[in-house]
Amino acid sequence: MSAAPPNRPLAPLARPVATLYGVGPERATQLARLDIRTVEDLLLHRPHRYEDRRQLRPIAQLQLGEPATARGTVVALGVKWYKQHTKSIFELILDDGTARLHCRWWNLPFMEKYFKVSEEVIVFGKPVGLKPRTMDHPETEVLEAGDEDIVHFNRLTPIYPLTEGLPQRWLRSLIWRTLAQCEGQIPEPWPELQLTGAAANLPARARAIRLLHFPDTLPDTDTARRRLALDEFIALQRQIRHRRSNFQTKARALPCGGDNHLIKPFLAQLDFKLTGAQTKVLRELRHDLSGTHPMRRLLQGDVGSGKTIVAACCALMALESGYHVALMAPTEVLAEQHFENFTRWLKPLGVPVELQTGSRKTAPRHHRKPAADLSPPASSLQPAPALTVGTHALLEPGFAPENLGLVIIDEQHKFGVAQREQLVRKGTYPHLLVMTATPIPRTLGLTLYGDLEVSVIDELPPGRGHIRTVVRAADKLPQVWAFIRDKLADGRQAYVVYPRVEEASPGGVKAVTKEFATLQQTLAPFKVGLLHGRLPPREKETVMAAFRARQVQTLLATSLIEVGVDVPNATIMLIENAEHFGLAQLHQLRGRIGRGAHDSYCILVAAARNPEARTRLRVLEETNDGFRIAEEDLRRRGPGELLGQQQSGMPRFRFGDLVEDFALIRQARDLAFEQEQGPPCQNP
Ligand code: ADP
Ligand code: MG
Repeated sequence: MSAAPPNRPLAPLARPVATLYGVGPERATQLARLDIRTVEDLLLHRPHRYEDRRQLRPIAQLQLGEPATARGTVVALGVKWYKQHTKSIFELILDDGTARLHCRWWNLPFMEKYFKVSEEVIVFGKPVGLKPRTMDHPETEVLEAGDEDIVHFNRLTPIYPLTEGLPQRWLRSLIWRTLAQCEGQIPEPWPELQLTGAAANLPARARAIRLLHFPDTLPDTDTARRRLALDEFIALQRQIRHRRSNFQTKARALPCGGDNHLIKPFLAQLDFKLTGAQTKVLRELRHDLSGTHPMRRLLQGDVGSGKTIVAACCALMALESGYHVALMAPTEVLAEQHFENFTRWLKPLGVPVELQTGSRKTAPRHHRKPAADLSPPASSLQPAPALTVGTHALLEPGFAPENLGLVIIDEQHKFGVAQREQLVRKGTYPHLLVMTATPIPRTLGLTLYGDLEVSVIDELPPGRGHIRTVVRAADKLPQVWAFIRDKLADGRQAYVVYPRVEEASPGGVKAVTKEFATLQQTLAPFKVGLLHGRLPPREKETVMAAFRARQVQTLLATSLIEVGVDVPNATIMLIENAEHFGLAQLHQLRGRIGRGAHDSYCILVAAARNPEARTRLRVLEETNDGFRIAEEDLRRRGPGELLGQQQSGMPRFRFGDLVEDFALIRQARDLAFEQEQGPPCQNP
């Protein structure tokens, strides 16, 4: 929130918490540890659960293993020491007139300070024994004589996340008082929006905040959460819309629709026909490239769906129109592969293809800054438009092609939003195509890529072999190796992926080198190649070339090969310690196989003693549907995991839930759009 001018008082909700009665510097510091800095932060501090204190359980009726809340008077307390005064148990005994309850804490002797005989204490916990009735490490709250019972008792009581030194009861009182004081000043954030559909039944924001803390019924808390989540989503969608409309009103599109003189011969020489899905997507792309606004499009397609060819056609349209094209990939291995393919495809058509990576740079053409005049270079004196393929190296100032018409980013999820914008700024509003195989669950798509149009390739090319996926315990490895040797003998090739080698750790290189020696022995006389991030680029190229040429039958690699690598004869993917990877990442790795006509096998080896991990991996046995896998990953490990750390710009929500709130997100998007443009847009 921006600071108000010094001579004007801050709006009540924007005031620092330290201005509240009873909040001194020490409390303010503790609250800041919970990210509570302003009154608004305090009012949005979300209880992590609610306790039904309308009917406390008599101690005599506590059941074994059933979490419950009880209340009683302290009748005894004390610390017992044992093991030569190194270990302790603090015990507190409560009596509520029906029975006694023993509460125990191990090795927290200072707890003794917090309680006194004859005080009233409320406890929440799970009875671990009934003779005597016992709870271990329950949550507690000491009652103070008579006061504020309306806040802490006889209601559904909010239990807040705390930080060291901050008492539950103090925080609850503070929120109660602050709410009473400010409730009338909480504004409706979108008075101009007509909340319709399911949103029409949601309470006003001020009411939602009250229900969040002091609900009348348990369902109230969910209603409150949904209202506050909706506000978060609307705010985000407005930002997205704002960014986009800014861009659309300012930017004039470069005419990049092309005239077919390069695409026609290109398609004619391919040894396959485009799939229906590829053709459909190309129609959408051509429409954008010849439209009035610069294209901003995300191309989604599962691994192996054939995005590269689509990118090539799109590049040709811009090239036909006389503009330069840049294609950025996240790894050198992938950039080299694209360079090789595009050179093979485009050189015969007379289109120069260049490579620019950290380690290699072909044909250092002298690029000038783009001319202010946006018309295509008509004069034959100007250099022919070219395609530059590269890695992050394209972001460096040295790369400044004139007449940049189209930017393509492959495996976009490996880059941040900032990098995407950086490359686009090399030109004057070039068109942008970003491609990803990480299927973004729909909720994330609407938030993360809300400013992009989306095209989907929802069909794999025909004639692909079947991929079978199995999860095996590590003790089954000998059989697995025998199976792999069989397949190698049939002429197939294999990847072996080994996760412990982090790309950046020199210690990891030692581990993989050792693994490499072992694997060479295991698979002899078949040849094994080694590929990891710390190899000099030349060696990476040599190894990949040998693998493509089948001089090497097995590639021992790190997750470096997760993106893009395309060798159709490779049909085995063995992943050791598979439990270290996310499901979406494993799905990407599996996407390296099943690219040819032969049946493929993905073998996930997991530690025998980790049943939870093995259950998780089973999802991959069951399905090859990238979207289902990504949703499962999102559910289990959260969005950070799925998108990778590079994915900057991901908002954090207090109330919004990216897994569950698809309907709310869509509603927020329609509302934000409606207000700006009139009729609602089509839902994807
Ligand atoms: P991804 O979408 O994962 O980037 P690629 O573009 O690498 O997939 O394509 C995977 C493989 O499928 C490549 O070998 C490519 O030549 C081949 N391919 C692409 N389109 C077709 C098609 N329409 N018919 C047959 N094979 C295709
Ligand atoms: Mg690809």
